[in-house]
Amino acid sequence: EKALLEIEDLNLSFDTYGGEIRAIRGVNLSLRKGEILGLVGESGSGKSTLAKAIIGVLPKQNTRIKKGRIWYKGLNLAGEKERVLRRVRGRGISMIFQDPMTSLNPTMTVGNQIMEAVKTHQKLPSTEAKEKVLRLLQRVGIKDASLRMKQYPHQFSGGMRQRAMIAIALACKPDILLADEPTTALDVTVQAQIIELLKDIQKENGMSIIFISHDLGVIANVADRVAVMYAGKIVEIGASTDIFYHSKHPYSWGLLSATPSLETTGDVLYTIPGTPPNLQLPIQGDAFAPRNKYAMKIDQIKQPPMFRVSDTHFAATWLLHPEAPAVDAPKEIR
Ligand code: ATP
Ligand code: MG
Repeated sequence: EKALLEIEDLNLSFDTYGGEIRAIRGVNLSLRKGEILGLVGESGSGKSTLAKAIIGVLPKQNTRIKKGRIWYKGLNLAGEKERVLRRVRGRGISMIFQDPMTSLNPTMTVGNQIMEAVKTHQKLPSTEAKEKVLRLLQRVGIKDASLRMKQYPHQFSGGMRQRAMIAIALACKPDILLADEPTTALDVTVQAQIIELLKDIQKENGMSIIFISHDLGVIANVADRVAVMYAGKIVEIGASTDIFYHSKHPYSWGLLSATPSLETTGDVLYTIPGTPPNLQLPIQGDAFAPRNKYAMKIDQIKQPPMFRVSDTHFAATWLLHPEAPAVDAPKEIR
């Protein structure tokens, strides 16, 4: 089936006083209609940057798209003018941003903020628009919607603010929803409710979702496919079962070992030793090599290509080279 969104060799940098930050270093990714794609990786791996590049909201002053394309309905979003991107936003692609407190306007009632989103792309008489706001609030599970729409964000709990954000993102029934850590600030119970809500809405509208989280446990509950990001690259991608049961990349092994399973809840968590590379410095070879206990000589020299594991599963590690020694995933995750 043809992809709804197709990212080809995206390379993107931020210019800063400290130098050029190579935040996205050659990303290829496609999103199919109706799928939930999980995007996972440590802080700073480029997840939010990738999502913001798709929806075109990175700061114009210092963002440089150096190479690559983002195809959506015949448009290359990486090269389009703001005027075109504005038309795509909302109805085509919409985003739930990482920090609900800074993305909701504290001086405006929640109802009016959803109203704005409703009115951006369709002209409705105000009684109908108001009706729509009410329905959206109810749909995202906010009780006493007619009272709540008159309140300000600070009068909402964290979970309710996140629901309000979802209502805004859904106001125009987007084809694609980019959900950036939509549950991270919430306690586990509310987190589970929000995930169920997003899954239900996805089923109702058949939209596609890119669900970003640094937590593989959360991703396991939502995603049909999973992409693992490291230092501005996708290092492994596959169906959920490929990633959770047959992962091939040592970085994914590290992430999986750092994720509490149902049986090990409460145990001290493993963390991957070392830190991600400085993206302002040139990277030789595989960016993960310094943290990879299985690294070979070639890892220091050459970037591994994406090796095909199966029709659904790909990973960029020299361990998959036919001549590499066989290495088993650590037994905790097997
Ligand atoms: P987190 O899990 O913490 O949200 P992330 O995977 O979303 O992390 P990004 O926010 O995409 O990571 O950041 C990727 C890199 O780009 C980081 O090194 C970050 O400091 C840098 N970066 C992001 N936005 C900007 C910007 N506007 N200007 C300069 N550098 C930026
Ligand atoms: Mg982020």
